[in-house]
Order: sequence, then structure tokens, then C-alpha cells
Amino acid sequence: MGPSRVLLAAPRGYCAGVDRAVETVEHALEIYGKPVYVRKEIVHNKHVVHELEKRGAIFVDQETEVPEGEMVVFSAHGVAPSVHANAAKRHLRTIDATCPLVTKVHVEARKFAADGYTIVLIGHEGHEEVEGTTGEAPEQTVLVQTEADVDDLEVEDPDKIAYITQTTLSVDETSSIIARLKERFPNAVGPKTDDICYATTNRQHAVKELAEQCELVLVIGSTNSSNSNRLVEVAREHGSASHLIDNHLQVHESWLEGIETVGITSGASAPEELVEKLVAFFQERGATEVSELRTVNEDVRFMLPGEIRKELAGSGA
Ligand code: SF4
Repeated sequence: MGPSRVLLAAPRGYCAGVDRAVETVEHALEIYGKPVYVRKEIVHNKHVVHELEKRGAIFVDQETEVPEGEMVVFSAHGVAPSVHANAAKRHLRTIDATCPLVTKVHVEARKFAADGYTIVLIGHEGHEEVEGTTGEAPEQTVLVQTEADVDDLEVEDPDKIAYITQTTLSVDETSSIIARLKERFPNAVGPKTDDICYATTNRQHAVKELAEQCELVLVIGSTNSSNSNRLVEVAREHGSASHLIDNHLQVHESWLEGIETVGITSGASAPEELVEKLVAFFQERGATEVSELRTVNEDVRFMLPGEIRKELAGSGA
């Protein structure tokens, strides 16, 4: 037997940037035919990547692995200018599926760099988005991951500091890091509005409410998905046990002992069909009540990249 009640966080799952990136690869396959190369995972979700592979997408780690003259799509996480330069050298045809909210951070980085600031990038080392953003001004950018990193910062001019952040961080943790930064460097400047995107913020807010009503929160998402990992942390901080799973096959029996209400949410790159399968899994095990806990309505949509829009307009689609 399992929990009798299933509570779904809303909003959950796909954000506008992921939707756009996945649709970009789908359209590219339809318009240009196989193969379409994709640099890195288009979004951090194994299921999505496998589905696109079945349809003819070839995922590579670097643009230098793409045969000369072929088509390559850049992932939602964004790329450094050096990647565009390498692609041009190889005469690759490129489609940039970088989320517009990541592009906004790149624009800020360029602006701060041009104005002579040391840029403090708050983010996770090794994450593709951080690599791409750092690449805008590598000489002027330093990465901090914690408040302790802020304490250890050594900069040339303490009055010329600007900060920017990765889009998928913990809202609470990031505001503590920014507060610490402003304490140490009172003249530090930042973007007009937060760099943490609407989807990350909304999903974290929803999972807080969910965690308060459930003994267990399951988050569907892949282990390399930053925003999904943050959802697990936030659920735990708000009183619930929580685990990150790729799909219903990864649920452990031991997690369900004594659980009356299980909460479900999903990261911004996890498709809804995985949530549906997890709900069905609990229904088969006796859950009789399935309801949704909505904290906000989302209606954000992004236009497809220009190359795709032009082709679709030309074909009358
Ligand atoms: S999580 Fe946010 S920044 Fe990342 S793709 Fe989605 S909307 Fe864009």
C-alpha cells in the first residue's frame, strides 16, 4: 500500500525556455532533416534527450565535434562567445536555443565588463550556464558559490564590483549571498531585477507550500538539473522528506512507509508525462485523492529562434 492522497504542485515542470528549446530541435529535425547536432543536452533531462535522439538528434559535448558545414543547435543554458567563434570557423549552421532569460544575464555581463567592473557571478561551478556566462568576460569574472566564498574574495577595486547570478539558484540562499556581498562591498551593483528566473522562483514557492502539507515530496528531474535539485532542498527545508527521481521506477518502498500524503513536483526541464506516470503509480497502489495546489498562474511564452520562425513562415506552417 502507498499514500492515500497525492498533491501536485502548480506550477511545475516545463518552463517557457525549455519548451522553446525542445520545440526548436523538433522543428529543426522536421525542416532540415536528420541529423541535427545539438551541443550539450538541449535541456537537463535524460528522457527528453533520449526522445530527441530517437528522432535523429545527435548530442555532442563540444561544437568542435560537429562535422564541418552541419547544423548545430545550442542548448537552453547558453554558450560563451568562443563557441560561436568556433562554430563559424567550422562553417556550421547554427540555431541558438539559449533561453532569453539566460541571454539577459549575458547582456548584463557584457555591460558590466565594458564599464570596467569585476563581475561576481553567483552560481555553481561546472554548470553549463555558468561556463557560458563566464565566457562573456572571463578575465573580469569571479565565481562565488557560498557566503564563505564572498568572505574570501580578493578584488582589485572594492568599489567597482557588480554581481549577476545563475538563473536557477535557490532564491533564499542567493539573497543571503547578495546581502553578504553588499555588506562587504557596499558599492556593489547588480541587475535591475533578479537574475533568478520566474520559473525557478515560482516552482520554489510552490514546493514550499506543498512541503508544508505533505510528509514526502518527490521531485521529478535529472540529477544534473540545477533547478530540480533546488526543489528537493527547499522541500526539505520546509519540513518534508524529499527525493529527486527521474521517473516512477526510482521510487523506493522504504520512502513510503507511514506516508499519508505524497507531494509531487517536477523541475523546469521535466515533461508532464513523467508526472502522470508517477500519479498512476500511486493510484495503482491505492491513492484515491489526487489534487493540485496552485500558488500562481504562469502564462510566459517565448518566440522560437529567428531561423526557425523564418522557415516556418516560408512553409506557411
Ligand atoms: S529555468 Fe528559467 S532560465 Fe532556465 S530555461 Fe527555464 S525559464 Fe529559462
